[in-house]
Amino acid sequence: MEKLLFGTGGTPHSAKTASTVDGIRRIAELGLGCMELEFVQGVRMGEAAARLVAQVAKEEGVRLTAHAPYFINFNAHEPEKIRASQERLLQTARIGAICGAESIAVHIAFYLGDPPERVYETVKKYLLEVIERLKRENNKIWIRPELMGKGTQFGTMDELLKLSTELERVAPVIDFAHWHARTGKFNSYPEFAAMLEQIKKQLGKDALNNMHIHFSGIAFSKKGETKHLDLRESDFQYKELLKALKDFKAKGFVICESPNLEEDAVLLQETYKRL
Ligand SMILES: [Zn+2]
Repeated sequence: MEKLLFGTGGTPHSAKTASTVDGIRRIAELGLGCMELEFVQGVRMGEAAARLVAQVAKEEGVRLTAHAPYFINFNAHEPEKIRASQERLLQTARIGAICGAESIAVHIAFYLGDPPERVYETVKKYLLEVIERLKRENNKIWIRPELMGKGTQFGTMDELLKLSTELERVAPVIDFAHWHARTGKFNSYPEFAAMLEQIKKQLGKDALNNMHIHFSGIAFSKKGETKHLDLRESDFQYKELLKALKDFKAKGFVICESPNLEEDAVLLQETYKRL
């Protein structure tokens, strides 16, 4: 991508209606660059609606990403739950691609008390089946397991970077707030720079030109994330993060998931521009 685009996770609150199409129009009015389609409660959009979304996004010059349903666990212990999880991710990729979305965020698995190394192999095996299926369908959307905020969730930096080197069309969603909540660290320029350096080292420089980032304020306990907060109510050092992104010339999508959505997305974009 040619630059860093800022946008919201879902339709902005100030849109005329809660519809995706009105959301895209509002993103353009606000001068933002992208929006994430929230299929978190299930993919309920049909093909005709998806084609309209693609048309409006193109007219408005808004780029799209999508978020897969929360009800996914590639480490489920029941085979039918694995298959249902794969089906939900495939459905997100199919409708997402018709919408013109370029990248899908997914909470890929829970450990359920299993050893992380075994969970890694399980996730990789079932995700590979999805990737191969999409390849046969000529669907080129990126599948992006997300950096997760709780210790019970699969998705550490090491797990995601390894998975991304081993599978085609797979890369991480770097959720900086989740990682801060999970570790209690990663809230300063040198730490953000170290993360970007690690991505560059393991995935190559191209990965920094093609990022999918989630961003919000966050509240957390010893167990990790408890809830998202507006940036100014949180301890998150977002200016330092934006500075690190600028210094590393990172490009791609920055999706704001603060409760106030577009307010923080605009704040981030304005702050970034002034750096
Ligand atoms: Zn997410």
